[in-house]
Order: sequence, then C-alpha cells, then structure tokens
Amino acid sequence: MSTGKTLESERESISELCKRMLDQGLTTGTGGNISAENGEGVMAISPTGMAYPDITPADVPVLDGDGEVVAGDREPSSEHRMHRMLHEGRGDVGGVVHTHSPYASAFASAGEPIPASHYLIAFAGKQVPVAGYATYGTAELGELAAETIGEAYDACLLRNHGVITVGETVDAAYETALMVEYCARNHYIASSIGDPIVLDDDELEHLQERFADYGQSE
Ligand code: 13P
Ligand code: ZN
Repeated sequence: MSTGKTLESERESISELCKRMLDQGLTTGTGGNISAENGEGVMAISPTGMAYPDITPADVPVLDGDGEVVAGDREPSSEHRMHRMLHEGRGDVGGVVHTHSPYASAFASAGEPIPASHYLIAFAGKQVPVAGYATYGTAELGELAAETIGEAYDACLLRNHGVITVGETVDAAYETALMVEYCARNHYIASSIGDPIVLDDDELEHLQERFADYGQSE
C-alpha cells in the first residue's frame, strides 16, 4: 500500500490486473472493476466502460475522500461507491476486485453460495455467500456487498451479477477472485460426478490459519 496521494504503483497494478482479468477469463467485455486505496481515503479505480487492452496507468482515475477525481482523465467505474464502502468498512482492506467470472456468476444467478468442497475456498472464507440483488452502480449494491462480506469473508457473490473480493492489496484480492472462480467450477464439475463432500468448520479454520502465512516469506 502506498502512503503517497498519487498511487502511481497502484495505478500500474490496476491497469495490469485489468488485462489479466480479461486474459484469464474472469470477465467479458468491459465488465468488472478493480480498486486500491492508500489507507487515507485516496482510491485508484479502473475507468468505466473502457476496453481492458487499452487501459494504461494514466487512464486509471484517482479519487480523494470526497469522491473527486484528483488524477487521471477518465471517468471512474460506475461501481466506485461499492468499492469505497468495502475499503471504508474494514481496516485490513487495501484492494477490491469485482469480476463477472462465468462459473461463480452462474452460482450468483442461481442465488446459491459456493460451498467448501475444495480447500482453496478458505481464501474467501468458509463458503462464498450471496448478497441480495441491487442494480449495478448503486449505493444499495455496495451496502449489500459490505454487509455480506462483513468480517468473516473476503469475497461474496452479487446475485444475478458476479463476484466481489477484498484483500490487503489489490494483488491479494485478485488472487481470491481467481480462487473463487476455480472453486465454483470445481463444485459444478464435482456435482456432475457425485455429491461433493464439504469440508467441516474445524478444517476450514485450520486452513485459514495456514493461508495467513502461505507462500515465500519476504
Ligand atoms: P464499469 O465499466 O463502470 O466499471 O462497470 C462494469 C460492471 O461490472 C458494473 O457492475
Ligand atoms: Zn459488474
């Protein structure tokens, strides 16, 4: 997380992750959006309705705490209110990623949470819950997402819409969005083979502890 107000490295990360989101099949067209916040209310967020391959770091608007654009020539994502609420809601959130990834969005359209039938669900929590429906871009959608994610989850489904994830950094939130899609696809395939076996609460808590320091230490 940068402490500066210009969020240069975050703007670079966002433009790069936007391309990756499209290349890795986590969205279609201009769907989805990505933001990073500096812990002082300054937020960089992907531009609205812009083709991902064309987005450069300079196209990523920076908004101050009042929602005024203080850098970048583009209009911010229509979901800037939802991103803002998720950054403000929890001290440990520095990155937010919203995707329309296909399998997870199918669970969202069915109004079904993604159960813990694969251990990687622990990136998001003990399941991926579903927030109620509200029109895209509204404060109401932000409220529903923030309420559903709460303190217990790092992701939720947006009914009839897609996925939203949070993380300490935008890279961490992106990784969780990938895991959510993987778990949704795995659960769908497993359901066509038999009855997927769901991990119990104790094991999920154990996994969440393990993931807290997973990977190479810095
Ligand atoms: P934006 O292009 O405004 O970010 O909106 C895309 C989207 O996914 C709305 O939910
Ligand atoms: Zn969307």
